[in-house]
Amino acid sequence: MIFFATGTHFGGSCSKAKLCDYAMAIVPMSTFRESSVPRHIVCLTFDFDTQSGFIARGLTTPTPLSRGEFGLIGAQRIRAFLKSSDLRTTWFVPGFTIESHRRACEAVVEDGHEVAHHSWAHIPPAQQSRDEEEADLVRANDAIVRLTGRKARGYRSPSWDLSENTVDLLIAHGFLYDSSLMGADYWPYRARRGDRVELGKPYGFGEETALIEMPISWTLDDHPHFEFMRTATTVLPGLQSARTVMENWLDEFRYMQRTVDWGILTYIMHPYVIGRGYRMLAFEELVKNLQASGAVFMTMEDAAAEARARMFTD
Ligand SMILES: [Zn+2]
Repeated sequence: MIFFATGTHFGGSCSKAKLCDYAMAIVPMSTFRESSVPRHIVCLTFDFDTQSGFIARGLTTPTPLSRGEFGLIGAQRIRAFLKSSDLRTTWFVPGFTIESHRRACEAVVEDGHEVAHHSWAHIPPAQQSRDEEEADLVRANDAIVRLTGRKARGYRSPSWDLSENTVDLLIAHGFLYDSSLMGADYWPYRARRGDRVELGKPYGFGEETALIEMPISWTLDDHPHFEFMRTATTVLPGLQSARTVMENWLDEFRYMQRTVDWGILTYIMHPYVIGRGYRMLAFEELVKNLQASGAVFMTMEDAAAEARARMFTD
């Protein structure tokens, strides 16, 4: 794991005892600052797609659209639980959802949650030209400004497939962080641009940028675990036990606690997925277990800012 290239100012305040194996694989130990106070951050994030993902995939008959519409009910349940637990979280909201379901999005803002960028039309950037991607980025940011009064600080790409232009565009438009890549688990890192990849040649690392990458994983996303999807060419079975998935997610937190003294763990959920009754029960239990284990809950913007301050000198 060499994504923290030599020269990266990586000052996570973790003890050598706990970090040894983990850190030695990534950065020289001399780059760490010492601290005796463990701090394990959890970001609960919700991708408020509603119908946008189905429309982007051409699934525009009434039933798949209604499946996305269920996200409005799911969002109400999630907000009520978060309010009762006094938790502020991050919602990645497509411009489509803001302009189609204005009241539901205003409620997210009124509850004090961060609204972050998730495109306008839920088309993966890798499928767009640079001009198309930038136009969609600006259109969605305009919708967020009208909703919240300010531009988004964070971005998550639809279907987690960045284009070669995305990092540059996010920097040009003033983003603090991206949350679309999988190159780490508990430690944010600097997004790179210009990696060089050619079949039969060693990997060529591009330059690190100021954009903070808040890493994610399909394993910590509710969608593939739970959603049954059938198209002409594929079947995604989903429909796993909610309790089992949440046990796995809790174990991920426990492993972070055991191996690093400071870290951020991000869970990714969709209101139309996690908002089903039996999944809500399991999710609520996960949150209670995380609270009992000492998790520090933060919005992704605040966690990214903390990561920048602790891990990077500029
Ligand atoms: Zn999405």
